[in-house]
Amino acid sequence: MIVLGLEGTAHTLGVGVIDGDFNVLADVRNSYTPEDGGIHPRDASQHMSSVMRESLDQALDEAAITISDVGLVSFSQGPGLGPCLRTVATAARTLALYNKKPLLGVNHCIAHIEVGKVLSGFTDPLVLYVSGANSQVIKLRDGRYRVFGETLDVGLGNMLDKFGRMVGLQHPAGPKIEELAREGSDYIELPYVVKGTDMSFSGILTAAYQKHESGARLEDICHSLQETSFAMLCEVTERALAHLKAGEVLLAGGVGYNKRLQQMASLVAEEHGASFDYPGKFMGDQGVMIAMTALKMHDAGVTMTVEDSVVDSSQRTDSIDVTW
Ligand code: AMP
Ligand code: MG
Repeated sequence: MIVLGLEGTAHTLGVGVIDGDFNVLADVRNSYTPEDGGIHPRDASQHMSSVMRESLDQALDEAAITISDVGLVSFSQGPGLGPCLRTVATAARTLALYNKKPLLGVNHCIAHIEVGKVLSGFTDPLVLYVSGANSQVIKLRDGRYRVFGETLDVGLGNMLDKFGRMVGLQHPAGPKIEELAREGSDYIELPYVVKGTDMSFSGILTAAYQKHESGARLEDICHSLQETSFAMLCEVTERALAHLKAGEVLLAGGVGYNKRLQQMASLVAEEHGASFDYPGKFMGDQGVMIAMTALKMHDAGVTMTVEDSVVDSSQRTDSIDVTW
């Protein structure tokens, strides 16, 4: 069965197409880049409406199928920016109803995990999920993805993007900070806030900006920002790993593209004799992860009525029954 996955929680409209064996047939991504500042929810959702038609056409072309070949339509139900979620859910409902196909809403965070599991072959990983809005350490236990530790304020990606904005880097700043950090050498002390297995990233943002205002080299601040915040993530991951005795560690979410984070997280896994992996170019937001999760749900017999397909901008990872 062919599955269409629509992703639209924040910056990217993604249209993914997979077959019933989880092979990727199409992966179209259309990202919105704000001219200045961060993501404006209304502008991002308008971007999604304006590129919806061409993205769908392109995905069907790439997959060499027509809409009637699709057996299941899926979309990101939450969490995310309300206007974006509503735009993409409306498109998915329309496609499903008009073409008489089943519809499934998928939790975006869980989709980041499921694509990683499919591509790595991991069956029961401890997940370090770090994206723009989310930073969580997660493991499946008794039918739910349990959050063992998470940020108490901003997500790590948003913290990096905000810092970038304050010092004049274009959105998204994460990749630029990684580049600058490679040229940094001096470690500047920044607040390191881990409480049990939870983290806080707002103090480090303020402190990093203060260092910038007082004339510290941007490369050194970026280096220190990465070293400190990634060490916080790794400490929490290691604590969960030791308690849960996981044999696999999976890195997920857009911040996972960062080579230094990949290196640090893999060292933590190695020290505990666990395997380590991450889903390559499928770390960031895209429709393939939505389609893969929907296929797993569908194979397990999950169905959804249009009434149940309302979006939930704050839908929690640990609120979904994982029956697949
Ligand atoms: P997502 O929401 O999962 O698509 O992830 C988007 C976030 O990932 C944004 O906050 C980006 O700044 C961040 N990001 C992307 N690439 C990198 C990178 N190489 N290093 C750090 N952060 C990154
Ligand atoms: Mg994401």
